[in-house]
Amino acid sequence: MLPTGGMTGKSLVKVDGCAVCDDLWEEYARVTKECLKILGNQEIAALQHDHPGFEKLDAQYQDCDRRRDALRLAITAHSQEAHPPHLTQKP
Ligand SMILES: [Zn+2]
Repeated sequence: MLPTGGMTGKSLVKVDGCAVCDDLWEEYARVTKECLKILGNQEIAALQHDHPGFEKLDAQYQDCDRRRDALRLAITAHSQEAHPPHLTQKP
């Protein structure tokens, strides 16, 4: 059994003690939080029937989601390059 802790997406690996991983994951967490905040605001705009506001938040969300995708790719690329699976698996 692997101690994955319910992590989905096996390509996303965070390696303890790697500064690059730390930075990327910190940024990823920040952008994810930002996306969630936008979704929350969007819900409020929808409840208030604020269509222009909703549209604006939708554009913001698309942008945020793109940045999150880019970070996910960056994490994957970094993991594959710096931490190949056969090296990061503990014996
Ligand atoms: Zn790393």
